[in-house]
Amino acid sequence: MVEEQLRRREILDQRVLEAMARIPRHQFVSADYQSGAYDDRPLPIGEGQTISQPYMVALMTESLGLKGAERVLEIGTGSGYQTAILAELSRATFTVERIAALTRKAQQILHELGYENIFFFTGDGTKGWPEKAPFDGIIVTAGAPEIPDTLKYQLADGGRLVIPVGPRYSQTLYKVTRKGEQFIQEESTGCVFVPLVGDFGWGKE
Ligand code: SAM
Repeated sequence: MVEEQLRRREILDQRVLEAMARIPRHQFVSADYQSGAYDDRPLPIGEGQTISQPYMVALMTESLGLKGAERVLEIGTGSGYQTAILAELSRATFTVERIAALTRKAQQILHELGYENIFFFTGDGTKGWPEKAPFDGIIVTAGAPEIPDTLKYQLADGGRLVIPVGPRYSQTLYKVTRKGEQFIQEESTGCVFVPLVGDFGWGKE
């Protein structure tokens, strides 16, 4: 997975590559999908949600530019796989998931794997986690109709927000860097994520 799907597609951050080589992705999917856990695609994790494609996890993580001392907020815990990578690469990871059953499952596996620097919350992540802000990095792993101001203003100065933005079934990945009261926005690749459902995201169907 690391050689063929990541290094070959120019994921260069050595710490990201090492973390993804180390973390047992198959443990984050059900028995039915374990044989395909390292394939180049997202997989179902129940509740109508998915574990993201390895390349997208690597690209989004690399965009945060983590060095090890950061406090990071993740919106969309899902299986907990991306959470594990963030926990390996930063000081503390705060993760928010709107579906309680997914939070519980992720919490259990991440506890079994021995992580002690992850803090979980079940609720609407479009509001961020104001009590724990500011964050050096924020990663949103579901597609938003636009970039929520709530999240931008929970960034520390110099902090980065990575978020897929666009119509419900096709988005573009954005990186927003905070410089004081300015927010510098960069676009990267096209992507497809499940919808970010909440007060500052999509409404429920
Ligand atoms: N990072 C995950 C992983 O590695 O498995 C991928 C998660 S999946 C692509 C997106 C997740 O975002 C889903 O679990 C979904 O329930 C969650 N989600 C959607 N809207 C949300 C919101 N407003 N707040 C928190 N989580 C949300």
